[in-house]
Amino acid sequence: MTKKKVTVLIPCYNEQESLPYLKREIDKLINSYDLYNWEILFVNDGSSDATIDIIKSFRKEDKRYCYIDLSRNFGKEAAMLAGFDYAKGDCMIIMDADMQHPPALIPEMLKHWEEGFEDVYAKRKSRGKESWLRKKLSLQYYRLLQKTTRVEILQNVGDFRLLDRKCIDALRLFRESNRYTKGMFCLIGFKKKEILFEQQDRVAGSSSWNFKSLVGLAVDGITSFTSLPLRFATFVGLLVSLGAFGYMCFIIAKTLIWGESIQGFPTLITVILFSVGLQFLFLGIIGEYLGRIFYETKNRPVYIIKSYNEEENNKQL
Ligand code: UDP
Ligand code: MG
Repeated sequence: MTKKKVTVLIPCYNEQESLPYLKREIDKLINSYDLYNWEILFVNDGSSDATIDIIKSFRKEDKRYCYIDLSRNFGKEAAMLAGFDYAKGDCMIIMDADMQHPPALIPEMLKHWEEGFEDVYAKRKSRGKESWLRKKLSLQYYRLLQKTTRVEILQNVGDFRLLDRKCIDALRLFRESNRYTKGMFCLIGFKKKEILFEQQDRVAGSSSWNFKSLVGLAVDGITSFTSLPLRFATFVGLLVSLGAFGYMCFIIAKTLIWGESIQGFPTLITVILFSVGLQFLFLGIIGEYLGRIFYETKNRPVYIIKSYNEEENNKQL
């Protein structure tokens, strides 16, 4: 019987310090799990440090290590899509390079895969070292996202998961450039299984997410999964117009009955400022969607490959 092929997909951006630790753990795993044919697929996402040299040296030693070298930094979401396109495995495990996702969990994932589950995802028991504000914001964000969309978006579930070939092929169909992969995992369906894990701290380096990029991802999440904010704008606009109409009737009646002289400058200015503010807010919301439509219609490649394993090629999928 031929061995099943298992791909481990690891997107890397400036991970030169973490990679040696990671390799040690992965070697331990793949040498003890010889019943599978392993493919460790690194995606170098335009790192500016020695990440790619280290990965190349891994491959020189052991051909089970493969790599895709992207032409610049495209972001983790795009790097993952490159991995989906090039993975050869019957299943694939996605994990971070910084050891926040313990490779020791992989055997358990494989066990569930053998039982017939197609998407085995690891849920964090706790969020680890994070500020109180970030935890709170993240919780509220997921609540909001969940309320506004019909697909279930799972909380505390990152990209650490095992996907069957069927799921990989489904994910490859999603070619949009504003990517929110976390939502796509839920969108594709299939038979899911949850396992719990304790998130470790980064072994080295620092997280490449800052507050600004997180807000960007959060907005991408909302705009790519729901158009409810647009409907909300219509609703509020309607409400404000109705209120204004009522108020207008009231003022006309008041003037006709009591013949009152012109008054109420403060009221006027507040109402104007409030409605102008609302208009700009909703223009902004429309702009967010419009901007995304603009990018999507360009149909640009999500990533560009400099080289795949040794071969220098510009093959783009
Ligand atoms: N990463 C990437 N491209 C980027 C940013 C990050 O491929 O532009 C990789 C990074 O090397 C790591 C994973 O994505 O393997 C998770 O990144 P990070 O640890 O910075 O994020 P966090 O764990 O804080 O969510
Ligand atoms: Mg990390």
